[in-house]
Amino acid sequence: MLKGKTALVTGSTSGIGLGIAKALAAQGADIVLNGFGDVEGPKAEVAALGVRVDYHGADMSKPGEIEEMVRYAQSQFGGVDILVNNAGIQHVARIEQFPVERWDAILAINLSSVFRATRAALPVMQAKNWGRIINVASVHGLVGSAEKSAYVAAKHGVVGLTKVTALENATSGVTCNAICPGWVLTPLVQKQVDAKAAALGISNEEATKRLLGEKEPSMQFTTPQELGALAVFLCSSAADNIRGAAWNMDGGWLAQ
Ligand code: NAD
Repeated sequence: MLKGKTALVTGSTSGIGLGIAKALAAQGADIVLNGFGDVEGPKAEVAALGVRVDYHGADMSKPGEIEEMVRYAQSQFGGVDILVNNAGIQHVARIEQFPVERWDAILAINLSSVFRATRAALPVMQAKNWGRIINVASVHGLVGSAEKSAYVAAKHGVVGLTKVTALENATSGVTCNAICPGWVLTPLVQKQVDAKAAALGISNEEATKRLLGEKEPSMQFTTPQELGALAVFLCSSAADNIRGAAWNMDGGWLAQ
């Protein structure tokens, strides 16, 4: 379905980004990976799906590097047809104790990078009259949780930016939508499980149960594979007229 298209997925060396990159690759899209940590493992996982894969190590907190990454992908692949803005970090603390430097980093990586990458990628999509921008927001783009001020502010910003991007391109073949996952067991959430276990002196298993129980009626994590399938759907022609949606996949979190 996506043969001949190129997808740039930010923060795709791990977790949800890697899951989405693999799902798009399974549909034939060439992939540009980005993110920190091990690169060769994720590259091999994507290459095994029979597509061309490349990597750019841009730091999403550095505007110049984001623009350079998009330019690199455009020059190597003839354009970025699918941009998945996924890179993100978390910090959990009450506002009065929240380190200012963490606030700045979360806003830069989780929100401003989405604007920068979108701004750089849009002109080529518009020229081709086809493009998909998928912003990985969160249920926290739609509701709040205590101790997550920067994250919730950034993700609400992403949902707003998604709507504006969709509206500005509404008469074209370029769509923009947000995916809003509930809990997904990635390194980002494992840290929160570990912190809960340590703070309450309980086992990891019990901490996992409590974490899910507080928010997610299904008592199940959403998986990167399920989110990948949703991203594939948003890239399909059936989704041509889905514009500016914030689609939650959250085990019922937002139904409450
Ligand atoms: P993760 O920690 O597994 O992956 C994050 C990715 O972003 C990694 O590849 C990491 O290297 C990359 N990254 C971090 N800082 C970066 C930077 N400065 N520059 C470039 N890359 C950077 O986390 P995840 O859970 O897969 O999160 C992916 C996205 O999904 C994030 O935007 C997160 O907010 C969102 N999300 C996660 C959950 C969840 O429950 N895990 C729920 C809702 C939304």
